[in-house]
Amino acid sequence: MSVALENRLTMLSMDPLTTTEEESTLAASDYANLTAHLQADTAGTMAGQRVVIVGGGVIGLMTALYLTRAGARVELFEAESLGAAASGRNAGGIYAFGRAIGEVALARASMDLWEDLTLGGLDSHFHRPGHAMIALNDHERGLLDMAERHYALAGLPTRRLTPDEAVAVLPGVSPDNAGALMGTTDGQGYPFTAVSSIIAELRAAGAIIRDHCRVQSVIERGGQARGVRSALGVTEADHVILCAGPWLAGFSESAGCNLAVRPRRSQIMVTERIAGMENFPFVSGNRVYARRTHAGNIMIGGGGPWEQDGYNVTSSYEALSFLGKHMSELFPGLAGAPIIRAFAGTVELTADHFPLFGPAPSMEGLWISAGYNGHGFGLCAAMGRLTVDLIRSGSDGVPLPAAVSAVVGEFGPDRFNARQGKQP
Ligand SMILES: Cc1cc2nc3c(=O)[nH]c(=O)nc-3n(C[C@H](O)[C@H](O)[C@H](O)COP(=O)(O)OP(=O)(O)OC[C@H]3O[C@@H](n4cnc5c(N)ncnc54)[C@H](O)[C@@H]3O)c2cc1C
Repeated sequence: MSVALENRLTMLSMDPLTTTEEESTLAASDYANLTAHLQADTAGTMAGQRVVIVGGGVIGLMTALYLTRAGARVELFEAESLGAAASGRNAGGIYAFGRAIGEVALARASMDLWEDLTLGGLDSHFHRPGHAMIALNDHERGLLDMAERHYALAGLPTRRLTPDEAVAVLPGVSPDNAGALMGTTDGQGYPFTAVSSIIAELRAAGAIIRDHCRVQSVIERGGQARGVRSALGVTEADHVILCAGPWLAGFSESAGCNLAVRPRRSQIMVTERIAGMENFPFVSGNRVYARRTHAGNIMIGGGGPWEQDGYNVTSSYEALSFLGKHMSELFPGLAGAPIIRAFAGTVELTADHFPLFGPAPSMEGLWISAGYNGHGFGLCAAMGRLTVDLIRSGSDGVPLPAAVSAVVGEFGPDRFNARQGKQP
């Protein structure tokens, strides 16, 4: 399922050479079926169930939100500050264009849920200015041609831009570009307000949120997860959901399988506010990506071989000079824009670039939702909502709906087999 480097464009996780037309076509019906499934009202379906969530990033928080709305009694534990890991240090991209075909239906459904949540009052700044992937040479244009075909089969709306159209639509882009392909329904949001707004709703709904409280272990009795142990002692629960992001591997022993998530640094720098860029979409190309915040700053990010595994979140000169150089080549109109700050976060990588989502094999009532490979901000709405279905399928004898298993069936947390790691 992994992508060969030579077939990649910046932010194109789909390999257009190995993805089949059948897979792409299936993504369209998966999205339609999932959308129909998501119309069902979940209110009350989890009434009386006690759920502990481990991890207060967007995955844990959004999962808590949907479970609380379904009537569960949620208690969330965060080892540090809420939303302060990758969930508060990301680019805010909420998009489907560029995602591997196996993730497109989920990503589209997640955008729709972000939109619903925002219309319902969540302060996310979610909007859909699109995502333009820019080619700089014939090889990249050829990849865009193939990608366009696959995403069309997957039902994802795109628009092709000639080099001149790209100059007109993307202010400051290089006139030497080789054209662009734009996912016209792609969105973005603002992580800082979104996280705060979710926390506010959770508190108002009576969920218990414990920050600066690390979960030390999962408690098991009779083959069933019964709660967690922390500095506060034992917290009893009917279900425990591990949303520990890049720290997930530490729970491998409890889960009875290798929760193989690797931490890796990823960096971003931010320009001063720039006038005249109001309609700037999410853009990518030349090994960098960028988006405009609602305040008018341009965030520029991208990875490179200098980033090593680990939890180091200091900014590096090597990365920032790379981002500046490559962004200036792609958007000469932005060259020299003053940089006012930079930050880094820890992304959570799996070997096949798909998440770990499903039951742990070691005991009933222990669930995993983590390893989102740098896509977790966009995907968190869908994954939070689908966790309601997942847990009901384990506890109420309600089978996991076909529309759900079609999109998460490949994400079993035990697919990396061998046991590894220790309790955190
Ligand atoms: C620079 C950068 C740019 C990105 N850009 C995008 C983007 O544009 N779009 C997108 O979709 N995604 C993006 N991402 C990825 C996205 O931020 C992550 O996929 C997402 O935040 C993962 O959320 P999470 O809740 O799983 O993990 P995290 O945010 O890492 O949260 C996990 C939490 O679990 C807590 N925890 C761990 N162990 C324990 C324990 N034992 N007890 C209690 N708590 C524990 C940690 O303290 C942490 O707060 C980006 C990431 C980075 C770093």
